[in-house]
Amino acid sequence: MPVTRPLHRGRCFSLQSILLTSNGTLKDLLRGLGKHSHHKAPVKMLPTFVRATPDGTEKGDFLALDLGGTNFRVLHVRVEEEAQKVLKMDSQICAIPQEMMLGTGEQLFDHIATCLGDFLESQNLKGKTLPLGFTFSFPCEQLEIDKSILIRWTKGFNCSGVEGKDVVQLLKEAIHRRGDYDIGSVAMVNDTVGTMMSCGYRDQSCEIGMIIGTGTNACYMEEMKNVKRIEGEDGRMCINTEWGGFGDDGSLDDILTEFDVEVDKTSINPGVHIFEKMISGMYLGEIVRLVLVKITKDKLLFKGQISETLGTPGQFETKFISEIEDGLENAKKILTELGLDWDPVDACVVRLVCDTISSRSARLCAAALATLVNRIRNNRKLDHLKTTVGVDGTVYRKHPT
Ligand code: BGC
Ligand code: MG
Repeated sequence: MPVTRPLHRGRCFSLQSILLTSNGTLKDLLRGLGKHSHHKAPVKMLPTFVRATPDGTEKGDFLALDLGGTNFRVLHVRVEEEAQKVLKMDSQICAIPQEMMLGTGEQLFDHIATCLGDFLESQNLKGKTLPLGFTFSFPCEQLEIDKSILIRWTKGFNCSGVEGKDVVQLLKEAIHRRGDYDIGSVAMVNDTVGTMMSCGYRDQSCEIGMIIGTGTNACYMEEMKNVKRIEGEDGRMCINTEWGGFGDDGSLDDILTEFDVEVDKTSINPGVHIFEKMISGMYLGEIVRLVLVKITKDKLLFKGQISETLGTPGQFETKFISEIEDGLENAKKILTELGLDWDPVDACVVRLVCDTISSRSARLCAAALATLVNRIRNNRKLDHLKTTVGVDGTVYRKHPT
């Protein structure tokens, strides 16, 4: 059924503004890498102390924690039989209640230590002191592979007493408070770095990791000589770009819509991670909800009637976008569940809104990704670069296209 009602596509969806975004990110990358400019840079370009991607011969027996995505997970990973690259993995998801995301750091890390303890118990591993990989998906100033200072919380977390502290230390202290098990050496990584490394284990041309999930971010292999903040000119180091912060200095103001401004204002971290708020799962559903409310108020949808659910912040989940885009029948079902009095044209319009918002997200990611790929290509003075991007995150996994 053709959609007959007018829907204006704002200037933020034009190709021109996407190119503008790509130019802007490049300038910000350079600022973030500089010795003196990085303090004020919106895109932080954090050194990770990861100096090489895997060569595929890695082996071992490890524990892993994954905090900062949709689920908190504890894992036991064995990498064996080099030739076949066999990975054995046991894992457990552990819920983090909303109050804990906004409570004290001590409560959070005690909870993490408890989840890990319960898992070790269930796997009969309590007596073993295994090395641990800690995927901590927040911006951190990394001083060593096992020393990492949280710069700020993002994505709905806001635990007191953690910003400015060494997160590895906080984890170890919580484990020692219990005293019933211990862990070996710790390697802390951002989720983008973990994604690049695990993809690189099988495909050695993977030198970029990208996340489009609850939040968004990417890392890539930079030449050491360009990382002015760290001594040494030789080889490479993986840089965690923290591209979610792009726009925090106002550089994206020209392409922000009234809906983006509202999402930022009502978030728990107004003014920061502006780019992330246009792209990632924590925010996309709310952008769509605000657009739908607006066009309903303009009497272009649902006979002008906003249901209580549609009128409530956070009630239009990002997963609805994927489901609605996946099929018109899904759209109708979800609109009914949202208590809306829809007709078939409404359902098509809602799909169009979802498609518009998720396409914008994808294009912004593509623009930023193109900047990184070009950066690597120029670093190596190549006309043509063939590379692999490791990608993960719930939005990327769940969206139909
Ligand atoms: C964090 C990044 C992380 C990304 C994806 C952002 O909010 O700042 O460190 O990589 O989310 O999880
Ligand atoms: Mg994740």
